[in-house]
Amino acid sequence: AFDSTGTRDWMRRFTASVYATEAELTELDQRVGDGDFGTNLAAGVRAAGLLLDRPEAPAGSAEALGAVATAFLDEIGGTSGPLFGLLFQALSRAAEGSDAGLTTGALAEGTAQGLAAIRRVGGAEPGDKTLVDALAPAATALRAAQDAPPAAALAAAADGAWQGVRDTASLTARRGRASYLGERVTGIPDPGAVGVALLFSAAAGTVR
Ligand code: ADP
Ligand code: MG
Ligand code: MG
Repeated sequence: AFDSTGTRDWMRRFTASVYATEAELTELDQRVGDGDFGTNLAAGVRAAGLLLDRPEAPAGSAEALGAVATAFLDEIGGTSGPLFGLLFQALSRAAEGSDAGLTTGALAEGTAQGLAAIRRVGGAEPGDKTLVDALAPAATALRAAQDAPPAAALAAAADGAWQGVRDTASLTARRGRASYLGERVTGIPDPGAVGVALLFSAAAGTVR
């Protein structure tokens, strides 16, 4: 779906959408957590952009996604920094084996591996009102659409992620800070899930 230029365009589009949504993400995390998710995600894409825009920055999809992973893993606090870092790391590894960059198959594989890593580290199950609830349907949609045209596969992934976001609104949290608030967070979507949906929307908007 993405050659190395496409992967960078995806990351730029994601960055722009994070900046555009930062205040909204902050407000959501103020209601269900400690209010720093917008700041954390914006700091992540900023640190990633600094790595990607260096003159000596690596050229390929795998290396670019690896740089994004490093930025999130090494520099961003909060729970979401390392979890997004694991997703980008898995996407980077999936792109590594392929000369064609990030094919739809590699994207499906990387998303599934990222989901597995996040679940292993964070311990969240689907339905716990976390970013897993957006990532799991995106992974399922990508697997089902592996042989579809990339634009259709990514549109399905983005739709799945946003449906997952809507589903988090009706849930009571069992992981993360929102779990301390019990019924008080029912009705409010999970901010981390919105962040994941922005990532797949950016992918769908980038692919040609
Ligand atoms: P913190 O709660 O440490 O301030 P952030 O605000 O950066 O972390 O990120 C909050 C988001 O992290 C939540 O909206 C949720 O999607 C996600 N999250 C929290 N705990 C977990 C977990 N155990 N597994 C998966 N995602 C989680
Ligand atoms: Mg927070
Ligand atoms: Mg915090």
